[in-house]
Amino acid sequence: MTRTVLVVGAGFTGAVIAERIASVLCNRVILIDRRDHVGGNAYDCENDAGVIIHRYGPHIFHTNAPRVMDYLSRFTTWRPYEHRVRGLIDGKFIPLPFNLTSMELVFGMREGGRLNKLLTDEFGIGVKVPILNMRKSASPDIRRVADFIYERVFLHYTLKQWGMAPDELDPSVSARVPVHLSRDDRYFQDSFQFMPAEGYLALFQRLLDHPLIDVRTGVRFEDLDGREKFDHVVFTGPIDEFFGHRHGPLPYRSIRFENRTSVATRPVQSATVENYPTPPAEHPFTRSTEFRLLTGQDDIGWTTQAFEYPEPYVVGSNEPYYPIPCEESRTMLRRYRADADRLSNVTFAGRLADYTYYNMDQAVGRALACFEKEIAPRMNIRQVV
Ligand code: FAD
Ligand code: UDP
Repeated sequence: MTRTVLVVGAGFTGAVIAERIASVLCNRVILIDRRDHVGGNAYDCENDAGVIIHRYGPHIFHTNAPRVMDYLSRFTTWRPYEHRVRGLIDGKFIPLPFNLTSMELVFGMREGGRLNKLLTDEFGIGVKVPILNMRKSASPDIRRVADFIYERVFLHYTLKQWGMAPDELDPSVSARVPVHLSRDDRYFQDSFQFMPAEGYLALFQRLLDHPLIDVRTGVRFEDLDGREKFDHVVFTGPIDEFFGHRHGPLPYRSIRFENRTSVATRPVQSATVENYPTPPAEHPFTRSTEFRLLTGQDDIGWTTQAFEYPEPYVVGSNEPYYPIPCEESRTMLRRYRADADRLSNVTFAGRLADYTYYNMDQAVGRALACFEKEIAPRMNIRQVV
């Protein structure tokens, strides 16, 4: 008997799980998304000027997982792309993550060289040092440099991004962008750094091009006709929403994207992404992305930059983008997870359902593991919903 699985959410998590259920288990999948398109936050499209943009913020693919790379390579070819970011520090755009070159650009060759020696003597050449660790050094000289970097790179950016200082947030957040005691000015050092050659939407369309997958966009889980029966449900939306916020709303940060399009035969930014770790009175946004530098679309007379204005998430009025890792959210999450564990015919997975700050490759890895370990073994169970 062919079973039918409902998958809620057509981002990487939902789409990969849908593809696995259809291809491996040969079960029918109904994949819904409340947005009018597939792709989740990785969705890309052309704007009125013909510039390819990422509607929900710039998405740079990078991974160290050959398994994720092999899997996605069935649905796309790739264009090599190494991401670089410059941050505005004391009026100059300098390489971020802050590295040995940044130090010389900020302090001059002589003083920068002295400080670089201090840092590499203490931590080692090529090492990545989270800023919160560097600030705990026993050396007063290093603590002074660390305080400088903390203030100029992390403090205002993080206050704008999260509404909290780096030392009030889970240390994993600022550790995503450690000080890098190296000359390598790439934002990531992963072994695979590529962009899908024809974009993310094309990748999703191929992923979902299967006779057993029925994609329905513009459909909310809560509006489904209760008469339709499913053998299993995979939910990749916000876990607190699924349970009607019964333990309170999990906190998220949201972002308002302001896209500015101008006539330009050449790129206007110093790098694909320019960060503004400056106080909000100077720049109310955190970063700007020039899409053509990311997508390789250089035969076009226009350019579009996306400026990011972080804001609190308000249920129903903007998007829940970033789970906020803190003690309060962890406590609430434990309650939702306990509720989820009691529902044997619903599987929760993804950045919103796991309430975890996954990159795309982690979301794909999680989806593949979830299919193998949780969904496939459970597929003999009775109907739900
Ligand atoms: P999502 O992509 O969020 O998909 C969930 C889907 O579920 C959404 O489409 C939503 O509409 C749908 N949904 C939710 N609730 C319901 C409901 N009740 N009914 C119907 N549909 C519903 N990762 C990287 O690797 N590199 C990057 O550069 C990068 N940049 C990012 C920038 C920003 C601003 C953000 C927010 C994230 C970024 N990420 C990046 C992370 C990346 O977006 C996630 O890893 C990925 O989107 C996770 O996929 P997902 O399917 O779990 O969630
Ligand atoms: N961060 C910062 N200054 C920067 C870049 C990053 O303070 O110039 C901190 C900030 O807290 C941010 C976190 O490091 O939220 C992670 O940065 P990343 O670039 O990974 O952010 P994402 O792409 O996930 O939004």
